[in-house]
Amino acid sequence: MNEGLIDLHVHTTASDGTMTPEEVVIHARESGLKAIAITDHDTIDGVNEALSAGLRIGLEVVPGVEISADFPGEMHILGYFIDPADAKLRSGLAMLRRYREERNPKIAQKLRELGLDISINEVARAAGGGVIGRPHFAAVMMAKGYVRDIGEAFEKYLGTGRPAYVKKERLSPCESIGLVTAAGGIAVLAHPKFLQISDDRLLDQLVKELVEYGLRGIEVYYTSNTPEETRKYFSLASRYNLLVTGGTDFHGANKPEIRIGRGEEGLAIQYDILAKLKEYGRTKNLTGLRNL
Ligand code: AMP
Ligand code: ZN
Ligand code: FE
Ligand code: FE
Repeated sequence: MNEGLIDLHVHTTASDGTMTPEEVVIHARESGLKAIAITDHDTIDGVNEALSAGLRIGLEVVPGVEISADFPGEMHILGYFIDPADAKLRSGLAMLRRYREERNPKIAQKLRELGLDISINEVARAAGGGVIGRPHFAAVMMAKGYVRDIGEAFEKYLGTGRPAYVKKERLSPCESIGLVTAAGGIAVLAHPKFLQISDDRLLDQLVKELVEYGLRGIEVYYTSNTPEETRKYFSLASRYNLLVTGGTDFHGANKPEIRIGRGEEGLAIQYDILAKLKEYGRTKNLTGLRNL
């Protein structure tokens, strides 16, 4: 019963993926997966559509979210089994959306100052009503021939410290984890490699601190991890008694090299990982799991 492969890190058009929640569910099913988690940036707008598509099509869907926390590197907190109806979560995510709305026109302005003819309306159209992220800016820049691909858009303009980079306000790590926990969910540290912490002792200390805030898991299996990184994150999880999770960060055509459930070269994330997540949620009687 606990056999099969899963992907616990998937984006849809609700943020910067290119497939609608329903399309992602169909794609996952056709790719032979047994379950996926929908983890859009700072939004749960795709969750209900994915949950009903999952029921119809026969794929287990985990409601989730990926929150960008305030940290010098990139700290993303995944929230699994959050209750989509939770009022605190909804208002927290609405605030994060406002932070983006403050940032996005400033990026467009900077690009124009750099001589690129790009308006915020074009970018909003590229986002199709979903949460606007930098990949949508990159898509417009590509369509207009300013860059060859998304990578070049980040390297030349949009990446941290590049000329069109604008820092957006974010929740602290503690607040991000708290938002997930308050909504009955399980908070997990996404892709620890992007924290950009090269000193293992510092990484250990940081994880210890996050556990004090309520962190319950680490994304050990991830698309671009080296075997050493996977081992390192696995032993961190063991040391702090954390759940082990895994996902590809599937974004559809926005990251064409990443295949759902597989990543770049044959990730195989076992259903057992999800079984343990659910078991933990049930033991703790988390509201997010009670509603499913
Ligand atoms: P935002 O949430 O608007 O700040 O944009 C974050 C998104 O940009 C995430 O999906 C990242 O994976 C993506 N991203 C960040 N850096 C790069 C990069 N160098 N190349 C491609 N995508 C990137
Ligand atoms: Zn993304
Ligand atoms: Fe992320
Ligand atoms: Fe992601």
